[in-house]
Amino acid sequence: MATIKKTIKINGKGIHSGAPVVMEITPTSMHGIFFQRSDIKDSEPILAVYNNVGDTSMRNTTIGSVAGAHVQTIEHVMAALFMAGIDDALIKIDGPETPILDGSAMQFYESFASMVDGAPQRKKIIVRRPVVARASEVRRTLGLWTQIKLWFFEKMSGRRNNGYVKLMPGTDNSLEITATLEYPEKIIGRQTYSYTYRKDEQSVSDFFENIARARTFGKYSEWEYLKAHGMGRGADETNVIALNNSGDGTLNALIWPDEFVRHKIIDIIGDMYTSGGFLVGTIESYKGSHALNNLALKKLFSDPTNYDIITVK
Ligand SMILES: [Zn+2]
Repeated sequence: MATIKKTIKINGKGIHSGAPVVMEITPTSMHGIFFQRSDIKDSEPILAVYNNVGDTSMRNTTIGSVAGAHVQTIEHVMAALFMAGIDDALIKIDGPETPILDGSAMQFYESFASMVDGAPQRKKIIVRRPVVARASEVRRTLGLWTQIKLWFFEKMSGRRNNGYVKLMPGTDNSLEITATLEYPEKIIGRQTYSYTYRKDEQSVSDFFENIARARTFGKYSEWEYLKAHGMGRGADETNVIALNNSGDGTLNALIWPDEFVRHKIIDIIGDMYTSGGFLVGTIESYKGSHALNNLALKKLFSDPTNYDIITVK
């Protein structure tokens, strides 16, 4: 089992609330990644697994129920924990959201990677049969009001509801991810990126070099909309790539022209870690989302013939 050597404190602000937060990643003897609200009396640690994921409609992944104690935007922290090889950790946070930092996974990864205690003894979840989650199915699981809001949002942004996430059996001991984005905004357009995690140093340094610093993104005009609706209040040029209103440029400089889709890889790695282990298989994400990632895992685990679980060193 690998946990964290000693407590790490990370300060920042939430991207939605804009409020300052202190996150403490502490060693634990419990098995798994847990989030706990330190600002709510008697709040229990919540295991960061797919069936504890509450809401994904705000374009992030929330653990716990939205009505109760919950933590939003866990995906970048989860991706960094997975890549650093941390199986067990208790993450205490004094607000409803993880700190957004620079919008990427880099600072999380750098603080965790040097603090690993023990050898990862990761549960392998091997995909045996393909499952696919489609955007149209996600839509049907939402409340009517959310469906209307999403419809409006898509209409406004010119996006279509035809995305999917497929989980398929892989060829070896790896998690092979291919993500494709397709946006009407010219600066993004169609972008595809593939990344394979093999539990070796090569694939970890590939993540470090080419993926970890890719930032989250949003359209400037959508920010205004989100802010008017109490979301995205902490978003600014230091933590989000902001697309300009005509969609042909960004207000802040890109690290890579395809930084957008590289960021999607972080989101997928983080969300797939809510499987509770190392998901072995192939993932194809087309216009993916946190909701699709979550539905794909729910479908995978809904039938025991879809997967095998093996615990290995
Ligand atoms: Zn993200």
